[in-house]
Amino acid sequence: MPSSKPPIVWSNVIFFALANFAAFILVPLWGLMHGYSGWAWSFFALFVVLTGMSITVGYHRLWAHHSFKARAPLRWLLAIFGGMALQNSILNWVARHRVHHRYVDDVTRDPHSIKSGFWHAHIGWMLREWPTTEADYSRVKDLEKDPIVMWQHRHYWTLVWVMNLGLPLALGLMVGDVAGVLLLAGALRLALSHHFTFFINSLAHLWGRRPYSDENTAVDNPAVALLTWGEGYHNYHHAFQADYRNGVAWWHYDPSKWLINLCAWCGLAYDRRRTPAFRIQRARLAVELRRLQRLAETPGLHETWRGALEREYQRFCETVNQWQEVQAQKVRAGREAMNDRWLKTELRTSFKELEYRLKMQRRRLHVLAGELNDRVRSSLSPPTVSG
Ligand SMILES: [Zn+2]
Ligand SMILES: [Zn+2]
Repeated sequence: MPSSKPPIVWSNVIFFALANFAAFILVPLWGLMHGYSGWAWSFFALFVVLTGMSITVGYHRLWAHHSFKARAPLRWLLAIFGGMALQNSILNWVARHRVHHRYVDDVTRDPHSIKSGFWHAHIGWMLREWPTTEADYSRVKDLEKDPIVMWQHRHYWTLVWVMNLGLPLALGLMVGDVAGVLLLAGALRLALSHHFTFFINSLAHLWGRRPYSDENTAVDNPAVALLTWGEGYHNYHHAFQADYRNGVAWWHYDPSKWLINLCAWCGLAYDRRRTPAFRIQRARLAVELRRLQRLAETPGLHETWRGALEREYQRFCETVNQWQEVQAQKVRAGREAMNDRWLKTELRTSFKELEYRLKMQRRRLHVLAGELNDRVRSSLSPPTVSG
């Protein structure tokens, strides 16, 4: 971050101050004095889900990364409720998000780099005219061809006012609780959904594990996933951004992935992109091997540990090379392979075998890591696990 700070964006400062004051001071006060109707709570819950998921499923996984394709009715819905979330138009949001991925952690280019501190990554980046936050439209040429994206960009502010003031007002009048609906479904919903998204830029780059890549600050954290509609598996996401899943295991809490699956089941979404299992295993093993190699450099540790790790590393490289050969074979065979059942089966079993080999190697490394950690902590003696 440069030493002389750029000018303050007063409109944003005043807006965030008022929104958070309304959400965290006025809302509880009004609740204590007058209480809220069941309708107000219901609209609050509905809009928290709709606006939150329109950002994660729509802005993020659909438009920023093209990790799946969506039919027009779904895209309209995501564009309208995404606008209600008040996080800028799809075009502006995606332009900055793509820069974040491209230059993650670079304080001179990443719009909300965690290297500039928690506050800056969470909200501070929007409070001053930082040069890093300027939207680069050359990165969103693909979206300029999407009529729904361009409609939303042109009518963004009208959409914001209609959805954030007009809609709660109309619903409040309908159910006879104008103040309650405005405060809960308007103010509290807006402030909460803002912070939930902001946590992806702050907490998901700070607090958690890095199993798929140790090259940037993005982390996996199931607790953050609970608050961010599944986006807490951010280390996986930065490693494989084209994947429509952030929580890759079926049991990972990722409601955005489940919603995309549900939409695919209804025919509203299609062409969901998944990273091949081998590439995921390869990334995990590479990180683990690097970690163990660093640990094995501990002074005084018997060199057999380094030998065992070196042998594991060689095996890993062999498996990766073989996988690349099978890939090349598949490309050479081209479309014919898809029609030749025998060739197709042969390629599939080769991929499965190599995937299995990496899986077994991960198990071996797990045992090796346990022993190595013990040895580093206590006595320094040769391994009992054979390489
Ligand atoms: Zn990130
Ligand atoms: Zn992303």
